[in-house]
Amino acid sequence: MRLSRYFLPVLKETPAEAQIASHRLMLRAGMIKQQAAGIYSWLPLGYKVLKRVEQIVHEEQIRAGHIPLLMPTLQPADLWRESGRYDDYGQEMLRIRDRHDRDMLYGPTNEEMITDIFRSNVSSYKQLPLTLYHIQWKFRDEVRPRFGVMRGREFLMKDGYTFDLTREDALHAYNRHLVSYLRTYERMGLQAIPMRADGGPIGGDYTHEFLVLAETGESEVFYDSEVTDLTFGDRQIDYDDRAQCQGILEEFTSRYARTDETHDAALFEQIPEERRRVARGIEVGQIFYFGTKYSEAMGATVVTPDGGRVPVEMGSHGIGVSRLLGALIEANHDDKGIIWPEGVTPFHCGIVNLKQGDAGTDAACEGLYAALVAKGLEPLYDDRDERAGAKFATMDLIGLPWRITVGPRGLAANVVELTCRRTGESEELSAEAAVARIAQIYDGI
Ligand code: ATP
Ligand code: MG
Repeated sequence: MRLSRYFLPVLKETPAEAQIASHRLMLRAGMIKQQAAGIYSWLPLGYKVLKRVEQIVHEEQIRAGHIPLLMPTLQPADLWRESGRYDDYGQEMLRIRDRHDRDMLYGPTNEEMITDIFRSNVSSYKQLPLTLYHIQWKFRDEVRPRFGVMRGREFLMKDGYTFDLTREDALHAYNRHLVSYLRTYERMGLQAIPMRADGGPIGGDYTHEFLVLAETGESEVFYDSEVTDLTFGDRQIDYDDRAQCQGILEEFTSRYARTDETHDAALFEQIPEERRRVARGIEVGQIFYFGTKYSEAMGATVVTPDGGRVPVEMGSHGIGVSRLLGALIEANHDDKGIIWPEGVTPFHCGIVNLKQGDAGTDAACEGLYAALVAKGLEPLYDDRDERAGAKFATMDLIGLPWRITVGPRGLAANVVELTCRRTGESEELSAEAAVARIAQIYDGI
């Protein structure tokens, strides 16, 4: 993409309404525009990162054997009357009436609808296990939408639903989700720690929230510092291997890590003092095994091997796709702007031409651009007629992890400059070597 032809409405001033870095930077970098409280347009740069995050979520879900589908945003109220949640949900649910006076709602989540799809189509244990998921917009009329996309009213969520014959099978589905989520966040360059969460009125131990540590997080968290040393890495997972998934769950959840809702001061004090941490975190996902709550209420049953009929065992598992952009920026920025991890960056690298209009630098930049594209990479070439300082400021603000700077002096010596956004370190090398280096960095990402 050439910047002169792109739509990147960066702001010079810091927007006064934004209280936290990610919100400020998303506005300043021209990623989003607020249309109403908690409702945003995703401008091209923001949309690109959103799609990238969504793609990683899809890939990891499919790898785990989960099946994508798409349910609508609008739902009939009658389904929610069956589960009893139409009245229970309260003011967070946006209720709508259509021209025929039918009660509708903008879905805040999809347990009822997926249970309806299941009961209409599945009747035997032979069709299990089954995990269906979608990535779809949700609406929750939050009392206090704030912090930009972090707590929106309209937001993008991945929500997956598991259907199993037995509790044991359903717990394997739970473990599979925990493992796939660890992989998902790590691919994005984020550490999200599974913490024991509150099962709410349904109760039970089988729910974990995934938290990204950040001072601006809305949750207070308590943990053993050893949990931050755990990494998933590139281990090979067989998602059908129950012992392997269970082992990973135990590895990542055996140390103390809880939000304030489930915090137990006495247990916390058993951790050696130097390892006790009290901090804040951003909830970027939650997994939940809840058994037969919806299947019983809505008559989703399956025939068992011995010919009986039982309500299907279920769980639901969510990732805050749009909130993740906020969390990513909270965890990756400095005073100049965003620093995208390579896994989610909107463009692989920037090209800055220090002397636009100069035949030599223009040709060198075009050559670099073509060479990067030929390697399957997507560069953003700042070909505007601007001062070098302004070009650098834009690149630093939008946070591309790598920048290639091309100027007449370097070209005379046959070199360009390759700069790492995170460390600020630069090195001079030939244009070919710079292209090879960038291709190598993204190889396998
Ligand atoms: P919270 O406690 O932050 O209100 P929640 O526990 O009600 O979230 P879930 O029902 O668990 O949310 O939804 C799954 C994921 O969707 C959450 O882990 C979070 O990342 C994301 N999410 C929930 N509410 C919002 C929101 N208002 N704006 C953006 N993302 C959200
Ligand atoms: Mg939650």
